[in-house]
Amino acid sequence: MRVLLVAPPGAGKGTQGTLIAAHFDIPHIATGDLLREHVARQTELGRAVQEHLDRGELVPDDIVLNMVRDAFVEAKAAGGGYVLDGIPRNMAQARATYGVARDLDLPANVALYLKADDEELLRRLLARAKLQRRSDDNEETIRRRLELYHEVTHPIVSWYGQRGILVSVDAMRPAEQVGREILTALEVLRPMVDLVPEEARRPIDLTSLAAAFGETTSTARMSD
Ligand code: ADP
Repeated sequence: MRVLLVAPPGAGKGTQGTLIAAHFDIPHIATGDLLREHVARQTELGRAVQEHLDRGELVPDDIVLNMVRDAFVEAKAAGGGYVLDGIPRNMAQARATYGVARDLDLPANVALYLKADDEELLRRLLARAKLQRRSDDNEETIRRRLELYHEVTHPIVSWYGQRGILVSVDAMRPAEQVGREILTALEVLRPMVDLVPEEARRPIDLTSLAAAFGETTSTARMSD
């Protein structure tokens, strides 16, 4: 299974990425974690990217693309599955990641979009900021990360829709519920991902299920 996550900050990419990786026993490639590790170790790369991270800006594309190329090579050696979390974050990264993955015969089978509204994301990120774990979890940086998400990351969601590999889930609910829905969807898709070509597939939208079954907590408030 090869899954790529697209989600705004605070939607639960890290949590769900870890769950998917454990469930399918595949590597979890998280660009944010890889970059933060470099910063913590004060490597040359870490020193070069620290300021970008602290300001909530994206680091240069070539830096993350190099990381992903290396991680893909390792994933291939480990069996060929992966969960990609944190990249792509703009259209150029989406195209480049697709190119690298195709060269290695590892294009994503599923692009998983975690949908949540800004109000909820801000609430979650501010709560996390109180724990002071990350240098980019302060209000100003959080607002910048959300703004950048809408500006440059969100537009790539429709690209995966056109490719037929998009699965959208409602990430406003508790992590456990979101996780259960994701694993169910992925297990259902698993037998067919290598058999049915992308162009013959259709995007799957699970985001309105809760509302359809009478849950009013989340989907009614969603904006996009
Ligand atoms: P979040 O989604 O909560 O912002 P991440 O851990 O995915 O958290 O990313 C943290 C930071 O790492 C980003 O704000 C950005 O500075 C940097 N980063 C991660 N992935 C990328 C990427 N693909 N391209 C550019 N910068 C990235």
